[in-house]
Amino acid sequence: MTSRVEYRAFQLRPSGMIKTRFAPSPTGVLHVGGARTALFCWLFSRKMQGRFVLRIEDTDRERSTPESIQAILEGMDWLGLDFDEGPFYQSRRFDRYREVVEQLLGQGHAYYCDCSKERLDALREQQMAAKQKPRYDGHCRERGLAPADGSAVRFKNPRQGKVRFHDHVKGDIQVDNAELDDLIIARSDGSPTYNLSVVVDDMDMGITHVLRGDDHVNNTPRQINILQALGSPVPEYAHVPMILGDDGKRLSKRHGAVGVMEYRQAGYLPEAMLNYLVRLGWSHGDQEVFDLQEMIEHFELNAINRSASSFNTGKLDWLNQQYLIAASLERIVELVRERLAQLGIDADPDMNIAPLVDLYRQRANTINQLVNSILYCFCDFQDYDPKAAKKALGAEALEPLQRLRDGLSRLESWDAGSIHAIIEGITSDLAVGMGKVGQPLRVAVTGGSFSPPIDQTVELLGKDRCVRRIERAIEYISSNN
Ligand code: GLU
Repeated sequence: MTSRVEYRAFQLRPSGMIKTRFAPSPTGVLHVGGARTALFCWLFSRKMQGRFVLRIEDTDRERSTPESIQAILEGMDWLGLDFDEGPFYQSRRFDRYREVVEQLLGQGHAYYCDCSKERLDALREQQMAAKQKPRYDGHCRERGLAPADGSAVRFKNPRQGKVRFHDHVKGDIQVDNAELDDLIIARSDGSPTYNLSVVVDDMDMGITHVLRGDDHVNNTPRQINILQALGSPVPEYAHVPMILGDDGKRLSKRHGAVGVMEYRQAGYLPEAMLNYLVRLGWSHGDQEVFDLQEMIEHFELNAINRSASSFNTGKLDWLNQQYLIAASLERIVELVRERLAQLGIDADPDMNIAPLVDLYRQRANTINQLVNSILYCFCDFQDYDPKAAKKALGAEALEPLQRLRDGLSRLESWDAGSIHAIIEGITSDLAVGMGKVGQPLRVAVTGGSFSPPIDQTVELLGKDRCVRRIERAIEYISSNN
């Protein structure tokens, strides 16, 4: 799959053009929250005719894995979130981060710090005991230390003034510099920290709009200070509220599927997923269903909700149903065939399942549900649905079923119209309503009480199978009564 992902090099951004980036840390699959951030970044770049960058933030070498990178790329590919530049890997840019750390040191914006872990731990304890916010006290700030083994580098955060920025979601934010301590930008082993690498990349890649989860909002004033020390333009920011589960707690594995590819596995369509994700924290009037063009046209950063949104599987199901019905039948048939193959069912490639799929997609929320509801067409069901059998396969169904067996096995032209005529003939001979013949037949051939019009169902199933299953129902009734 990675082979399909082309690397698109950094590009100079013509002035006035916007650029967004999606910057996942590859420590797991592409989860719903990440996918929504990626979608917002993608939509905004498409709306503004700008560029969208994919940046893999794999500086944490212990937690980042190639499998996770692969999973992120696959998730984006499934959703159709194509990027114009990247994927860039932070792990390949360490020399550049080092260079910027040197630059900051050289310009007096950073300093070496040799505070031991013991000293920092003791400081933290004291501050906690005094009910103060734990923060670095600037011990090494003016010591003018030379580089030495085991020294970290800290950014010299301004001590005066405020950092102000306008967040497109949260509004105006300002933070006193006095609140911010001197952050480590290079660890004692020389590796860059998150805030440094993000800043260098946002600067080098010419990012104009940072859209990300609001768990990063506290990093923003620090990042702005570093950008300013570097003389870089400061991007605009939009911090997107988190996604909650149905119990109001942050969405996590406990709530069920959180990886977007799990939704693919469960039989959701990517366009339904995108539509669901866009509505999860963004709105445009009362509209619920958006195709991609409409999303791009109407998307506005300022219309992202300020409050957290709750994941609602019922709504995703509803949307998926809308897209299942609207999609081309050919595509749905293909997805159904894929799913059947996954289940190890060898559906005859010549069997025309399109009418069946078309009938059942009206009633299914997902491809998997659709497939489950048509399994009876490919393999004999084990048992009757007990409720359906109790209602429709009693002693009074025996005669209608015997007549159906005789009538249908003699039928020469196997089409819904002729099948219907046989059923009708029996209802009038026995002077009973349609339900007394149609329903036993339905349970006999499908195993349950729910199917498309029975004449169509019988036509789709084919003669041999139907006659065999009617026989089976006759035996069932005889041995149960
Ligand atoms: N890598 C960070 C994350 O996955 C995102 C950083 C950012 O967007 O600035 O949470």
